[in-house]
Amino acid sequence: MRQPMVAGNWKMNATRWEAENLVRAIKEAEPDPSAVEILVCPPFTAIDAVARVLKGSPIRYGAQNLFWEKNGAYTGEISGEMLRDLGCRYVILGHSERRQIFGESDQDVARKYAAAKRSGLIPVLCVGETEEQRSQGITEQVVSAQLQAILQQTDAATFHGTVIAYEPVWAIGTGLTATPDQAQEVHAFLRAELHAFDSGVGASTRILYGGSVKAENAAEIFSRPDIDGGLIGGASLKAEEFLRICAAA
Ligand code: PGA
Repeated sequence: MRQPMVAGNWKMNATRWEAENLVRAIKEAEPDPSAVEILVCPPFTAIDAVARVLKGSPIRYGAQNLFWEKNGAYTGEISGEMLRDLGCRYVILGHSERRQIFGESDQDVARKYAAAKRSGLIPVLCVGETEEQRSQGITEQVVSAQLQAILQQTDAATFHGTVIAYEPVWAIGTGLTATPDQAQEVHAFLRAELHAFDSGVGASTRILYGGSVKAENAAEIFSRPDIDGGLIGGASLKAEEFLRICAAA
C-alpha cells in the first residue's frame, strides 16, 4: 500500500544549466510513475529551472530546507510560502548536515515542520544517529527523540503523508552503508513509534533509507519490508545511476 519513493538530495551542487541537463536526462528516460515516485531536490537557485523542465512530468521537485516565518526581516532565508510559489511539493527537513553544520535543534526542525505544513509542503523528515551514538548503543533513543519532537506537536491527520528518511550520519557521503539488516532494524523501530502514535500513520508512512545508496546496493536495501525507498545524495547527481536506483525501488 506504500508507493516506493526515491528522492535525490542534490545538496549544494548544480548550476542552473547543470540542473536542467540532469533533470532533463531523468525525465527523458520516462521512469514509470506507478512503480516509484521520484523526487529531486535541487538547491534553491535551480528550483525554477528544474520546474520548467518538469512541467507536465510526474517527477516531483522540492527544496532542501526552509525558514519557519512567512516573510520579513530574515536576511538570507527562504519561506515555505516562497517554495510553494515555485511549485515545490516536498521539502527536506532536519538533514544531518543542517543539524551538524548549522546547529539545527530538534525544536528548530519542529518549527520548520509546522511551517512546511502551514504552507502546503510535504516534509521529508530526516533522522539518524552519529557513529558515536551508535557505538554507545543509543541509536533508538536518538531517532526516537528526533521523531517525537514532531509527533508531540501534531495530530495524525496533519502528519499524514509525511515522509521519514532514516540516515545514519556515519553512512552519509562516506561510502559506508548501513547493512540492509541494520537499516531494517531502525526502520521497524521507527514504524513501531509511528504505529503507537496512530495505526494508520504507522501503516501508511513511507520511511526512506539514506546514506551511500548506490546503484549496486539499492535493490538489496529496498527489499526489506520497512524500507520504502531511498534519499540519495552523491549518486543522485548522475542521471544514469539515479535512474538505476529508481528502477530498484
Ligand atoms: P549520500 O547522501 O547518498 O551522498 O550518502 C545522502 C544524504 O545526505 O541524503
